[in-house]
Amino acid sequence: MDKKRVYLFGNGKAEGKADMKNLLGGKGANLAEMNLIGVPVPPGFTITTDVCNEYFEKGREKVVALLKAHVENGVKHTEELMGLKFGDVTNPLLLSVRSGARASMPGMMDTILNLGLNDEVVRGLVEKTGNERFAYDSYRRFVQMYGDVVLDMKPVNKEDIDPFEAIIQQVKAERGIQLDNEMTVDELKKLVVLFKEAIKKQTGKDFPDDPMEQLWGAICAVFDSWMNDRAILYRKMEGIPQEWGTAVNVMAMVFGNMGDTSATGVCFTRDAATGENRFNGEYLVNAQGEDVVAGIRTPQQITKEGSLRWAKLQNIDEDVRANEYPSMEEAMPEIYAELDALQAKLEEHYHDMQDMEFTVQEGKLWFLQTRSGKRTGTAMVKIAMDLLHEGQIDEKTALLRCEPNKLDELLHPVFDKTARKLARVLTRGLPASPGAACGQIVFFADDAEAWHADGKRVVMVRIETSPEDLAGMSAAEGILTARGGMTSHAAVVARGMGKCCVSGAGAIIVDYKTRTVDIDGTVLKEGDYISLNGTTGEVYFGEVNTRPAEVTGDFAELMKLCEKYSKLVVRTNADTPRDAEVARTFGAVGIGLCRTEHMFFENEKIKAMHEMILADSTEGREKALEKLLPYQKQDFYGILKCMDGLPVNIRLLDPPLHEFVPHDLAGQEAMAEDMGVNVKKIQNRVQALSESNPMLGLRGCRLGNTFPEITAMQTRAILGAAVQLKKEGYDPRPEIMVPLVGMVNELDAQEKVIRETAQKLFEEEGVEIPFKVGTMIEIPRAALTADKIAERAEYFSFGTNDLTQMTFGYSRDDIASFLPSYLEKKILDVDPFQVLDVNGVGQLVQMAVNKGRSVRKDLKCGICGEHGGEPSSVKFCHRAGLNYVSCSPFRVPIARLAAAQAAVEE
Ligand code: PEP
Ligand code: MG
Repeated sequence: MDKKRVYLFGNGKAEGKADMKNLLGGKGANLAEMNLIGVPVPPGFTITTDVCNEYFEKGREKVVALLKAHVENGVKHTEELMGLKFGDVTNPLLLSVRSGARASMPGMMDTILNLGLNDEVVRGLVEKTGNERFAYDSYRRFVQMYGDVVLDMKPVNKEDIDPFEAIIQQVKAERGIQLDNEMTVDELKKLVVLFKEAIKKQTGKDFPDDPMEQLWGAICAVFDSWMNDRAILYRKMEGIPQEWGTAVNVMAMVFGNMGDTSATGVCFTRDAATGENRFNGEYLVNAQGEDVVAGIRTPQQITKEGSLRWAKLQNIDEDVRANEYPSMEEAMPEIYAELDALQAKLEEHYHDMQDMEFTVQEGKLWFLQTRSGKRTGTAMVKIAMDLLHEGQIDEKTALLRCEPNKLDELLHPVFDKTARKLARVLTRGLPASPGAACGQIVFFADDAEAWHADGKRVVMVRIETSPEDLAGMSAAEGILTARGGMTSHAAVVARGMGKCCVSGAGAIIVDYKTRTVDIDGTVLKEGDYISLNGTTGEVYFGEVNTRPAEVTGDFAELMKLCEKYSKLVVRTNADTPRDAEVARTFGAVGIGLCRTEHMFFENEKIKAMHEMILADSTEGREKALEKLLPYQKQDFYGILKCMDGLPVNIRLLDPPLHEFVPHDLAGQEAMAEDMGVNVKKIQNRVQALSESNPMLGLRGCRLGNTFPEITAMQTRAILGAAVQLKKEGYDPRPEIMVPLVGMVNELDAQEKVIRETAQKLFEEEGVEIPFKVGTMIEIPRAALTADKIAERAEYFSFGTNDLTQMTFGYSRDDIASFLPSYLEKKILDVDPFQVLDVNGVGQLVQMAVNKGRSVRKDLKCGICGEHGGEPSSVKFCHRAGLNYVSCSPFRVPIARLAAAQAAVEE
């Protein structure tokens, strides 16, 4: 049998349901579900996401042929339920055509409304409704949208506005009017003619009059929009696979622009920025959906409480607010009551914060969409914890509701209180997405990207944000717009990205041509600094200082839950007491990797290091190392003290010696003078240390095995610090780790040095400290012979940076030369240095764990490569039976959540 490509819905019945998101997309599945639970939805049909893939495989013609009968049947179904006819002159049905992928991608793909109009049908619409203004307003909107989306009308230069907007402005200017709704019916008619002419002129294409041809054009354009630049970029940012495809939803149009008893809006069951449990949203009377999100008209608030709050932020008097911008609660109390009841019903049904679109047509409420709302990291945590407390979800669901990487937003700095008090407030806008942002002003998305690539922090300032700005928004620290409410597409996207955003700052005048912005009389130009407070909506002059975030409230509670469910614990990679301190506040339970090399780079230390490198005898090296000892001991003292009572895994010196000597002439001359030797001697030594493959050269334990006195010195420093702390009443728990072991003999030799040095030290000091000797598993041979190595090693720590390098044979330092091409050609799905290659490298990890534990049952295993803070890799570590992951301090909460999720998912 032919597979089902089209699913019908309407009048309380549907062929699909909520759990069919993969096939019907989020929008289609929820439209079906809303029908099934009694929420009023206009009838229509959904073309599946599978068809999208067929479209790109087989091409347009074949897919249109496959769909033809089903789409015609869908149109007939819609006609019957609406009692209208598509393309009919006396009783016309108009359609909307919308995208809808499995995961929501707000504003990234295309939508066409009012489809089915032409010069004849519009006259029928006038007759039927007796509302000429409405009919021609719908018609000009349709031509404009169809032109933009299907016929590809674009501004010619980036400084230009949309070509249709330019025509509207020109028509309004001819009569000196300001607002769209001041246009006469004749002017709306004129727009239709001018729009069609402009389309013909710029694209060479005629506007299609046949409604069925319009419908196919729109359906295919929605499929095409799956592959537009912004959709591709958004998928990349969100990790959405291309194969998912988008569904197409075709629905009967209902009209929010039929007069003052009609309206359209967007609303949320909870606050998407803060997570507070308050119903909120925006609407416009006598308007169509895109007016609310496009940010062209100032939307009004749905609830009275929201309206009062909004007026306060915008400095609007109560009289003006109540008369010109009343809330829906005040202006349409009955519809509001119905809306409020339905939003509550939807949240209760889905047990999650919903983002909904609705239209009121002549006093009748219709829902057009519901979905789990995009939210900031703060809102994500608060909503999950609140739903848990309300009994709507259980603990495990609450954990799974939070996306580990989004916790990063909660760790970003916030404005310093005193700095904020002193800051000059230039203006206030709407707090569209919280956070603190500070940077140089840019006006265009491509500049934001380019400046960011040059290492600058930028704030993107726009009249209104549009989905085209996605890449720029991602590169910017924050976004400021003159127009657009809390539900404008880009505000929604900003919240989704966790980017600070202040929108609808009415007092700013942006001039793209001169690249300046006038903020209440202060004129700033491109490159000037500005700061945004996305939590209050304030815009500050210049740079305002920030301070680090803290783990409190809901965030702390979530972390407690993580602890309850995780099997894996999280340590940190830290080389300084400061980093260790930060990681501890984020919940790290020890140090999984303390790299010691950076400790050698300060003045006196590097001198002693140079002396050691230049020495030609063991005695010479020992003398130099003797000078380094007190410095090293001091470093370890600080770290062990800060992690009192917790394990601290210190790795012996790892990088090749040539990294410690200067390679430029000036540096070599300075070193020669410092050491009191001829520069030639330095150069000879540098020459002797140079290697063609330093990553595979004299590094790791090969260094310690070649010069055991280095290992001895580091052991004395580590255990010496521990002895001192112990004498002071602390509880130091050092672990000494040997890097880059490939065979057990390498470890064996190093362990002997370590144990002998320790024994001697403990005898001298009269104190004994229990400590462990372990190894890194970062060479494939070590994984293959892990059972042998475990005979000597008391623990394993997987160095997945080197293990990835040596398993793939990709240089860690040079992968950038081919990675972009590999990703583009899909030879690689992801960068294996960021996301652990479970199939290859993962096998080695699993094998090493199993072999290791076959000889040492309770062998502790951890990971300390960069993957230790990447959620999917953390989940793999859980499955592989590791005891801990170790990651940089700011990834500790992320790893903790991923670890808990891994346990819950099991
Ligand atoms: C590793 O190789 O994964 C590791 C942690 O060590 P480094 O990055 O210092 O080589
Ligand atoms: Mg390594």
